[in-house]
Amino acid sequence: MQLTMIGTGYVGLVSGVCFSDFGHDVICVDKLPEKIEALENGIVPIFEPGLEDLMARNVAAGRLGFTLDFADAVAKADAVFIGVGTPTRRGDGHADLTYVYEAAREIARAMDGYTVVVTKSTVPVGTNRRIEEIIREENPEADFDVASNPEFLREGAAIEDFMRPDRVVVGVESDRARDVMAKIYRPLALREAPIVYTDLESAEMIKYAANAFLATKITFINEIAALCEKVGADVKSVSKGMGMDNRIGSKFLNAGPGYGGSCFPKDTKALARIGQEYASPMEIVESVIDINEATKRRMIDKIMELCDDSVNGKKITVLGVTFKPNTDDMRDSPSLTIVPALVGAGANVHVVDPQGYKEGKDLLPGVTWEDDAYTAMQDAEAVILMTEWNEFRALDLNRMVGTMKTPKMADLRNVYDPAEAAKAGLTYVSVGR
Ligand code: NAD
Repeated sequence: MQLTMIGTGYVGLVSGVCFSDFGHDVICVDKLPEKIEALENGIVPIFEPGLEDLMARNVAAGRLGFTLDFADAVAKADAVFIGVGTPTRRGDGHADLTYVYEAAREIARAMDGYTVVVTKSTVPVGTNRRIEEIIREENPEADFDVASNPEFLREGAAIEDFMRPDRVVVGVESDRARDVMAKIYRPLALREAPIVYTDLESAEMIKYAANAFLATKITFINEIAALCEKVGADVKSVSKGMGMDNRIGSKFLNAGPGYGGSCFPKDTKALARIGQEYASPMEIVESVIDINEATKRRMIDKIMELCDDSVNGKKITVLGVTFKPNTDDMRDSPSLTIVPALVGAGANVHVVDPQGYKEGKDLLPGVTWEDDAYTAMQDAEAVILMTEWNEFRALDLNRMVGTMKTPKMADLRNVYDPAEAAKAGLTYVSVGR
């Protein structure tokens, strides 16, 4: 199959590379010349473990290429995937579909022969029908079908998720398009990955419902954590006891500073907005959005309390600023709320993050970036563990105590054992314990 991927971000690039690894011929298109130039030189513009090697292998095998030439790439394709961004639209919480519709228009003009136009981006219910209309308006002669194929990969484990998905969702309404999609995903079907065929609206809804449910699960345990702190329970034990129930499951039950990232914040807002538009309010999701904001603010209060209600003039070390480990993605990271609050309160903030600098340097003005955790902690009056990168999971607590001015730690990911921290001489707070 000849496939074209529009957009070479986290989803477009990973999908394009993995499809080429299935044996398909793939062209990846982006409108940013610097991205395409980097990719042509074998450089992956994002941090995603394993991606650079897999990309190099498939480029060398002649199955994968990159171009700025949208029209040529689309004309050749049996299927064109739209993998562009759908950020929150300013002001109203709706998903901004400008990039999706712009891509649809360009595809319509360039299409040649029967083509399936597949939306991989996360889009509100009704978007694929609108894409169909746009293509017809733009090119009434076009021979095409649309398909909705939302992506569920997680940054940091994207290749594994793409290659071994829990399921693939395909919204499709003609046999011809279904055949094309079945051929594209045949390598996964052969590995027994479940492929769920459905109508367009249901496929679109599955993606939002799944993300909103996961965001709800995280928010639920964060709210339980706040209560645990009041009643003297330990949220880690509570999560463990809850998660062993097969009906609940242990994933997404780790209390922390609030969810962030490129998907949950914008997708919960978009779902709430869809509910309002259809007069079917998503009240749980609306509460989740509010509680998540409150959770981030609660972390600021926790840090202030640890620092005797003032961080003014104090050196505070922040370990990790990306929204989770193993990614360089800073979009809607809790650090973007917490760090500016500390800087605003007069703290002298030193930041260490294995991949955060590239995005974070512009997003977190007024902080000092460091390369090494222990150097960053020298003479600090508090350490905040914000993102649980592996290198922050086994710190030498005695060494920390020896190097800090006042040995205090706010562990917002519950990585350390409170008793061990106390034994090392740390004044230690965590979440829900
Ligand atoms: P991204 O911002 O990293 O990448 C989008 C890319 O599309 C950019 O490189 C941009 O230059 C390019 N682009 C935009 N308009 C274009 C056009 N007309 N022609 C060519 N290129 C164009 O976005 P992302 O994180 O990969 O997300 C893409 C979609 O996938 C979103 O809808 C997102 O919700 C969804 N999604 C993301 C993840 C994730 O973990 N990041 C997971 C599942 C689903």
